[in-house]
Amino acid sequence: MSAAKKFDAIIIGCGQAGPPLAGRLTAAGQTVALIERKLVGGTCVNTGCKPTKTMVASAYAAHLARTGADYGVSTGKVSVDMKAVKARKDKVTLDSRASLEDWIAGMKGCTLYRGHASFEGPHEVRVGDDLLHGERIFINVGGRANIPDMPGIGDIEYLTNTSMMEVDCLPRHLVVVGGSYIGLEFAQMYRRFGSDVTVVEKGPRLISREDEEVSEAVKGILEHEGIKLRLNAECISFAAHPDGVTVGVDCTSGDRAVTGSHVLLAIGRKPNTDDLGLDKAGVHTDKRGYIEVDDHLRTNVPHIWAMGDCNGKGAFTHTAYNDFEIVAANLLDNDKRKVTDRIEAYALYIDPPLGRAGMTEAAARKSGRKVLVGQRPMTRVGRAVEKGETLQRAMHIHPTVSELLPTIAQELKPLA
Ligand SMILES: Cc1cc2nc3c(=O)[nH]c(=O)nc-3n(C[C@H](O)[C@H](O)[C@H](O)COP(=O)(O)OP(=O)(O)OC[C@H]3O[C@@H](n4cnc5c(N)ncnc54)[C@H](O)[C@@H]3O)c2cc1C
Repeated sequence: MSAAKKFDAIIIGCGQAGPPLAGRLTAAGQTVALIERKLVGGTCVNTGCKPTKTMVASAYAAHLARTGADYGVSTGKVSVDMKAVKARKDKVTLDSRASLEDWIAGMKGCTLYRGHASFEGPHEVRVGDDLLHGERIFINVGGRANIPDMPGIGDIEYLTNTSMMEVDCLPRHLVVVGGSYIGLEFAQMYRRFGSDVTVVEKGPRLISREDEEVSEAVKGILEHEGIKLRLNAECISFAAHPDGVTVGVDCTSGDRAVTGSHVLLAIGRKPNTDDLGLDKAGVHTDKRGYIEVDDHLRTNVPHIWAMGDCNGKGAFTHTAYNDFEIVAANLLDNDKRKVTDRIEAYALYIDPPLGRAGMTEAAARKSGRKVLVGQRPMTRVGRAVEKGETLQRAMHIHPTVSELLPTIAQELKPLA
């Protein structure tokens, strides 16, 4: 058996935290093995933020064209070419992936391994025929769509955010199961492309993490565009139907089921930790499979860290990137940055979008703090302009135009 190849660092997963960390470590003179089993760039670049926001932009253009008359602009009959929408999305995604691949290829000291990685010991990781030894190991394996074992799920064809990326036709009637961030973006997007859309949500309201009035406002926006909502759907089940799929919704009231041509499951995410051999390294996870980490993202095994969606501390590109910043600051800059310093921030890219920074009102009240509450409906605000003294260290929501600001701030240097 051949000896393990030795590296200063092994990074498993080439998502949002792995590549920038490889950049910092190699710049500091370390050797790095970066391992990716599928597509460089991970979820965000290939099946998440980037493609979906590109498609949201196409949907927005269709919406503006249809509502042009409200602005005094006349257009003819509006049609959407789904093959062209997909081609545009594919190009944006491929360009982004290619530029990331180029960057990694040019990183002196970094070796990219393609294949599934799993631990064989606390310092050993196997990728196919290669056994690697890392002084330090960083896990950045992300997550995938959660597919709960619901009645009938094995009897039907369903879509997830990943397979949705291959769809190049217009579903006649898209049933979206899950009324949260991912589901609602797809729901509005496909409604604007021209599909009938029904959202099926188990709970009594959409995006239940938000304050009630926020859920109510989002419900109003979606209903106004003709999206049907089935809330309190306590009897979700599936059955094949000659026209597509029948989704059981309610057991007691209203229409008991809805039949759609396509079903999209958007019922949360699951960490990619079940096939990583974590037990061989002695790394602990919680009951849901998220890797347990401390405030500096170190696992219970001192030379192993976990960053991004797989540690359960965030579920966004900007939180994964912020994880990289925290790890790099602690290891390379002697700067004790920590996860609990960051303020929660994210956006829901329906139109108009929802942006959130900090706690909800409900969470603030529950925390026992004395809170002041102010509300201003967007109908009365032109644009909110924000100015922060801690600009560079604030975590900027992805994707937004303003995320270029901290990058520029970091690059500022005195004139030579
Ligand atoms: C539809 C959708 C829309 C989204 N939109 C947004 C948005 O607008 N803004 C936002 O901030 N976030 C968004 N997100 C979330 C965002 O995509 C994730 O939070 C982000 O990609 C997490 O980055 P990560 O580095 O943790 O993992 P990932 O990007 O998932 O990368 C993990 C990588 O590890 C690889 N991998 C896994 N296991 C192994 C293994 N054993 N061996 C080798 N490689 C492995 C995977 O193939 C993958 O490439 C969206 C997500 C979805 C699904």
